[in-house]
Amino acid sequence: MIRQIVEAGDPVLRSMSSHIDDPSAMEVRELARDMADTLKDFQKRTGYGRGIAAPQVGVPVRMIVVDMPELGGIATLVNPHITGRSPEMFDVWDACFSYFYLFFLVERHQRITVEYDDLQGTHHVIEAAGDLSELLQHEIEHLDGELAIDKVKDPRSFCTVQEFEKRVRKQS
Ligand SMILES: [Zn+2]
Repeated sequence: MIRQIVEAGDPVLRSMSSHIDDPSAMEVRELARDMADTLKDFQKRTGYGRGIAAPQVGVPVRMIVVDMPELGGIATLVNPHITGRSPEMFDVWDACFSYFYLFFLVERHQRITVEYDDLQGTHHVIEAAGDLSELLQHEIEHLDGELAIDKVKDPRSFCTVQEFEKRVRKQS
């Protein structure tokens, strides 16, 4: 079921999400399924969207759903946390479902180590680099009430999706 995406300004996006005690509980699986449906719908509507965090559908629990080839397509990460960060940083054009029309530059760690549980309750430790690294940093920060816009590197980089496509996406 597609859920409504919560937009910036809603306090749920600024709240601390709670730990999920039983990753295999029925309501957790149901939420994961709905988040995947909502992500796919957003992709269909906009041509963008690689991940979604539970607070973005109004549920402040520690779960993200991402669509990345490195993780075999759509994957659910329960209680994800970053346990290692490379000192090397890189610049990324970031955007978010919750204030979708804006693109801006942020700095992210080149590589991170992430621990999480899957929906069967199996624990995983992964090393993420590049695209996957910056995406996971963005999504996991949502669980602590942080938004990418908080860490904009240069406010003068702000552009709308239309301008981003015209000026940035074309060049890269
Ligand atoms: Zn976001």
